[in-house]
Amino acid sequence: RPRVLSGIQPTSGSFHLGNYLGAVRQWIALQESHDAFYMVVDLHALTLPQDPRELRENTRLAAAQLLAAGLDPERCTLFVQSHVPEHTQLSWLMECLTGFGEASRMTQFKDKSAKQGTDRTSVGLFTYPILQVADILIYQANQVPVGEDQRQHIELTRNLAERFNGRYGATFTVPEPYILRETGKIYDLQDPAVKMSKSASSPKGIVNLLDEPKASAKKIKSAVTDTGTEIRYDQEEKPGISNLLTILATLTDTGIAELEQRYAGKGYGALKTDLAEIVSDWAAPFRTRTREYLDDPETLDSLLAKGAEKARAVAVETLAQAYDKVGLLPSK
Ligand code: ATP
Ligand code: MG
Repeated sequence: RPRVLSGIQPTSGSFHLGNYLGAVRQWIALQESHDAFYMVVDLHALTLPQDPRELRENTRLAAAQLLAAGLDPERCTLFVQSHVPEHTQLSWLMECLTGFGEASRMTQFKDKSAKQGTDRTSVGLFTYPILQVADILIYQANQVPVGEDQRQHIELTRNLAERFNGRYGATFTVPEPYILRETGKIYDLQDPAVKMSKSASSPKGIVNLLDEPKASAKKIKSAVTDTGTEIRYDQEEKPGISNLLTILATLTDTGIAELEQRYAGKGYGALKTDLAEIVSDWAAPFRTRTREYLDDPETLDSLLAKGAEKARAVAVETLAQAYDKVGLLPSK
């Protein structure tokens, strides 16, 4: 079975619709056909300031949401990034293989650091794509199911895997991105030119899956659209409506063309009302299941410990090979 690896940050508590449609939904499907490794990337969260207690809680919360969404620890390996120390060890080798200019060209870094200013931007934020490279390569993953915003980082991963293999001999699998065209990018409801984002979206622009249904409904109903009246998929002219159509199509497994027909002659309000209802119907059982996992932290923690053990078995082996290849002296 081909192997997949992916991760999600425990940054702001609830997952949003972009995380679910762009990434987590694929994770669930892929655990049936692939040897799947999924993790909560708590080390990546540290690239921005975090309250220690909140970080710990949010890490459990992220794991609980992944289980509630449908990950099955019997069919995939689910763990917390910091429980497998080999990631950061391999990351150092990868940092030493990366050009400074090459790292400087990562657009996520440029965007996030531009917002914060250089003095408040951590070196960790600068090097986090390289830790991500290590996250992927240490499992010899064949595919990486992520949203469109991660494409450049997967490209960096491929480049570094090839560079390492070229310099030291075949060691790492060169992974492919696994990005669905339709849902690879879900947009901010208030600004459909930018992606919905945990750290960057305004509260009104982001639909959090754990929010009260009423709050989500209100956000969907006040989503920015356009001055026209026609419900039609048109990314250029109607980015707001197109985004709502994408979300509705995916959550209901309906084609966009069929939705366009269904809403022919109807107003934007009808589309928004229906979508608000679909989202809250979907989110209600998700919220209940998440709460159930959180109410039993001991079971959750031991589940994550088992996941980390399975993950480490692979990671230790890859790291030993990589250390050997670059010429580090083994400790006897
Ligand atoms: P941040 O903006 O702080 O980086 P995020 O919203 O991107 O947070 P992550 O935890 O970084 O959330 O991403 C988890 C997964 O969700 C990644 O695979 C990412 O590509 C995907 N993803 C995030 N936002 C979107 C979006 N708007 N549309 C589709 N996929 C998304
Ligand atoms: Mg992100």
